[in-house]
Amino acid sequence: MNQNRFINWSGQYQCVPTFVYHPSSTEEARQTVCQSSEMGTKIRVFGSGHSPSDIAMSNETLVSIDRLNLILNIDYEFKTVVTQAGVTLKELNQNLAKHGLALPNLGSISDQTIGGAMSTATHGTGLNYGILPTIIQEITLVTGLGEIVKISMDENPKLFNAAKCHLGSLGLVTELKLQVTKEFNLEVHEQPQTLETVLHKLPESLQSDHYRFWYLPHADMAWEWSATRRPYRKIPTIQNAFQHIQQWYHEKLIGYYTFEALLYLATYNQNLIPYINSWYVQQMFNEPKDSQGDSVSQFNFDCLFKQQVNEWSIPIEKTADAILQIRKMIQEKDYKIHLPIEVRFVVIQSKRSSQHSKNRRLFNTG
Ligand SMILES: Cc1cc2nc3c(=O)[nH]c(=O)nc-3n(C[C@H](O)[C@H](O)[C@H](O)COP(=O)(O)OP(=O)(O)OC[C@H]3O[C@@H](n4cnc5c(N)ncnc54)[C@H](O)[C@@H]3O)c2cc1C
Repeated sequence: MNQNRFINWSGQYQCVPTFVYHPSSTEEARQTVCQSSEMGTKIRVFGSGHSPSDIAMSNETLVSIDRLNLILNIDYEFKTVVTQAGVTLKELNQNLAKHGLALPNLGSISDQTIGGAMSTATHGTGLNYGILPTIIQEITLVTGLGEIVKISMDENPKLFNAAKCHLGSLGLVTELKLQVTKEFNLEVHEQPQTLETVLHKLPESLQSDHYRFWYLPHADMAWEWSATRRPYRKIPTIQNAFQHIQQWYHEKLIGYYTFEALLYLATYNQNLIPYINSWYVQQMFNEPKDSQGDSVSQFNFDCLFKQQVNEWSIPIEKTADAILQIRKMIQEKDYKIHLPIEVRFVVIQSKRSSQHSKNRRLFNTG
């Protein structure tokens, strides 16, 4: 991003806004909104641009939340944190860890801003731990009319659920109060599996604290990931030079650079994709793996190179049906699919709000 050009993470979308503001407080954000309103320009908010769509782009007024970057309060006793919206999940994770706390669930990365993650229902996986916005206790928002509004179960309760996936349409979020948890470890087991077996034992697999799987087209197999929550303890990572080189060879040279180069090659000849996929699965996903560590290190992983993704939400009881239909469609239409289809399981209501509305359980593919 240069001074005027904003580009999303994947590099697919960019914009050159006429006006760019960087408020550092709720009051400055309010003034920004009022000023734009007087000029008659529309505002859009830019977090860290990780949305794979053009949703954070505008050629009119763009508000960057990069200066709303303070964590205002961490309360160990009540396990809450009050933070400005431009703090990244990574910064929040690090600061919570210093206080023996953690976010209860995370997605694949922590580079997003809190504001962005909480605007788009960002989620990890695990039916007992909802999408990230289910931990919101209170939101401070500047509306399009320049009013400062608090949203919580007690204040503006009708907006509270809408605020879990508002996509920036409610206004400019400046601060959030979140319910966090005591820090914890995850014990992770990963294994290759046939798709049929994965789908057959899904009800059992979903008893894990956190479970997801990837379907790997062309290689026609699945890779399961399940994690069990354990009390936090520091796990030293002692590696000798040989293990270090071995890891670099496997994860970086093969799993990243070679794979990326081959996919680049396949942009000239799509027929190579099934062979590349099969080779990749042989190299990376051929035997079970166990690991453990603090929650952030186990939830997050390296998403490797820039990529375009899309994501669909489907009722959980349709999981098998949907995946099998996708597999059939790939075969029948002879589609060449170069990246795996990830299937995660989430609830979209917090335990508290589910007292009012029954939990909706979803899986999503991405
Ligand atoms: C490599 C990668 C991995 C990902 N992994 C996951 C994952 O595991 N799970 C998942 O669910 N998603 C995932 N995502 C998607 C990502 O979490 C969302 O797109 C998230 O919104 C990005 O946050 P951001 O700060 O970049 O927001 P942006 O992309 O900048 O903005 C997203 C939306 O939020 C609005 N917004 C941002 N901040 C505010 C604010 N303060 N007030 C009002 N509106 C605001 C913007 O206007 C826009 O509509 C991933 C994306 C990438 C690129």
